[in-house]
This record gives sequence, structure tokens and C-alpha cells, in this order.
Amino acid sequence: MTQIIDGKKISAEIKDELKEQVAAYREQGIEICLAVIQVGDDPASSVYVRNKKKACEYIGIKSLSYELPARTTEEELLSLVEQLNGRADVNGILVQLPLPEQIDEEKVLNAISPLKDVDGFHPMNVGALCIGKKGFVSCTPAGVIQLLKRSGISISGRECVVVGRSNIVGKPMALLLLRENGTVTVAHSRTEDLKAVTRRADILVVAVGRPQMITEEYVKEGAVVIDVGIHRDENNKLCGDVEYARVAPHCSAITPVPGGVGPMTIAMLMKNCVESVEIQKASFVERAE
Ligand code: NDP
Repeated sequence: MTQIIDGKKISAEIKDELKEQVAAYREQGIEICLAVIQVGDDPASSVYVRNKKKACEYIGIKSLSYELPARTTEEELLSLVEQLNGRADVNGILVQLPLPEQIDEEKVLNAISPLKDVDGFHPMNVGALCIGKKGFVSCTPAGVIQLLKRSGISISGRECVVVGRSNIVGKPMALLLLRENGTVTVAHSRTEDLKAVTRRADILVVAVGRPQMITEEYVKEGAVVIDVGIHRDENNKLCGDVEYARVAPHCSAITPVPGGVGPMTIAMLMKNCVESVEIQKASFVERAE
């Protein structure tokens, strides 16, 4: 029988654990605060921002909201980030992407202090992950590791294949699986004979950004399949990068879309906010600043 990995349930468990940790910090007089910046009023971004604020409220994290007009200049945004970097009462800074075209996203993300980079996108944090040091880890791949661990799926020694090599999903995913002692292969658009590569996987993580591309021919019998993709199909229903109905019967475990990886991203953002208290004490970034 295929195990359906329940991201809703696991993310709720994590949020409840975080709620307790936040309450314990509050008893010590520590309040955690996340600053959320949105530039413009892209409807999808507004939904994400609203959900992040709701999660903060549930867990007991204070959220500061900055809703800037779409015409905001790069200098204005950088100056806000700089101001928030310097505020001792702000633990995390999140700039919702995408940004309007007059603003260089990379420049803004790199301007966020690595100590407050709760999205885990800053090169210092990516570097820390690469060499096994403490730092913030990109939320979606960190969520995948939690899904596997909390579903009793062992990673150590197993063949792990990640399809996709983006900076926010594929690459950190591969590094995290390696950190858990998986034997990791990263596939991408230039990979020859993708099916032969993915069929080697005991654990297949798909972050390819192509609706339902992965069919049963890509999957070894009994594999664990994690679907990071989110799309709307022709009937406006959510679907992933994996053709779930055809693939699921061949897996030992699989994540559905929706209700798999999706809910984990915000839970892990909240985890990063809580961990920021400890990370801000860590020395690796202090040395670099
Ligand atoms: P990107 O488009 O940045 O990266 C896609 C990757 O897939 C690239 O590395 C690309 O290779 C590779 N690829 C594209 N086509 C093929 C192909 N035919 N065969 C093999 N590899 C291919 O996407 P993201 O990493 O940002 O996101 C991936 C998916 O995850 C999307 O559906 C996105 O919506 C979803 N997502 C979900 C989140 C969640 O919270 N659940 C969060 C973030 C993303 P190359 O590098 O060679 O171009």
C-alpha cells in the first residue's frame, strides 16, 4: 500500500511545536519579530504574504508589515532593508518575490543581513549549507527533509535523485540530502536519458516546474516520490510536476498536490524565524560582517 505523506498534518505538528518554543522564549522575555516587505500588489504575492502573517499570528511571532507601492525604487527598498538590518527588535526580514522590474532582486536579497535572512537565500547561508555550518536553510527543501524524517523514511545510504537545479529548490535540496548521507544525483534540462537516471532513485524529488511531467516510466517500483511542483491544470485544479494518479500505485510513499510539500514551506519559514534567536548568536556570520 502506498503511504500518502500528509504535509498538512506534519506542518501543523511543526507549527504547534514552534508555538510552544515561542511561548518559552516569551517567558524569558524574548519576543520574535518578522518583517515582511511586499512591493506592489501582485495577487499571488498578497496571498502568500497574508498566509505568512497568519502563521506568525498562530505561533506567536510578531509580524511587521511593509506594503510598498509598485513604483518603489531600488534605493528606497535597499534603504528600508538597511534600516531593518539595524533594528535589534527585528529577527527576520522577508522580501516577497517577485519584485517589480526596476528593482534588482539579487541586489536586494544580498542586502538582507545573513543573520536575518529567514528565506535562506543569501550567499552566506547557501555557503554555510554547502560546508555544513549553521545558518538559515531555504524553506521548501528544508520542508522536504522534515516530510521524509517525520514519515519514517530513512535517507542515509539511499539513492536520491533531485530533478531540478534551481538556487531555491534543486541545489539546496541536493545539499540537504547529502547532509543526511544520501547518495545524491542532480538531474536537469541537459540530463541525457532522464528516465534512466530517475529510475535509479529510492527517493525521487521532483522540482522541474513542468505540470505532470513525471509519469510512472520515470519511477522505480517502490520508490519514494516527493513532488515540489505547483501548477493549475486546464480545469484550474492544483497539480504537481508528477502525474499523481499514474505514479502513486508504484510508490512506497508519495506527496500529493495540494497537501504535500506546499504547506511545509511556511512552516519552515516559521521554524527559521524561531531559530533566528540562536543563529543571531552564532559566530560564523559575525566574523564575516
Ligand atoms: P525553476 O524553473 O527555477 O527550475 C526548474 C529546474 O528544472 C531547472 O533546473 C531546469 O533545468 C529543470 N528542468 C526544466 N525542464 C526540464 C526537463 N524537461 N528535464 C529535466 N529538468 C528540467 O523552478 P523552481 O525550482 O523554482 O520550482 C520548481 C517547481 O517547484 C515549480 O513548479 C514551482 O512552482 C514549485 N515550487 C513550489 C514551492 C512550494 O512551496 N511547494 C516553492 C518553490 C517552488 P535547467 O537548470 O537546465 O534549466
